[in-house]
Amino acid sequence: MESFRMKKQNQEVSQGETYRVLIPRFLVDGMLGSLSRKLRILGFDTMYDKESNDTKLVLEAQKEGRILVTSDVRLQQEAKRRGVECVLITTPTDKERLVELFLKIGIKRLNSDTASRCSSCNGELIPTEEKTREGKEIYSCRECRKLYWKGGHWKKLEALFREVGSRLEN
Ligand SMILES: [Zn+2]
Repeated sequence: MESFRMKKQNQEVSQGETYRVLIPRFLVDGMLGSLSRKLRILGFDTMYDKESNDTKLVLEAQKEGRILVTSDVRLQQEAKRRGVECVLITTPTDKERLVELFLKIGIKRLNSDTASRCSSCNGELIPTEEKTREGKEIYSCRECRKLYWKGGHWKKLEALFREVGSRLEN
């Protein structure tokens, strides 16, 4: 099992030596589509690629500074060979996969303030003037214009994320 320390970003000295912790960005391979959607909803910048071959995926992760997330041992080996951070996912459900991923990269707590991203395209969500009939805010994806609001299925997701969060802290 591999573990990663959180990288410190820009170790430059400005207004006192403060290190900003880098929020990890992910590149998720083709077999883990629903995991990539959940990462986006949690607010992580997550690319999902089901077209590219192993080498291209690894190079893409390297170029973009993303952590490669895969359940394919061969892909993990290829990443290792090229010195690209990669997390091998070995668990069967998205809930366990999220816990596994976060533990392996050292995330102990989920930040509930992070704005969700578009689960379809990873675009940023921006608030609109509109509200649902129940008065819920409606957000629009900056990229694909898809609309989002916290509807019934949000409750289920929230419960799942809460459970993941509590598994991390224990
Ligand atoms: Zn979108």
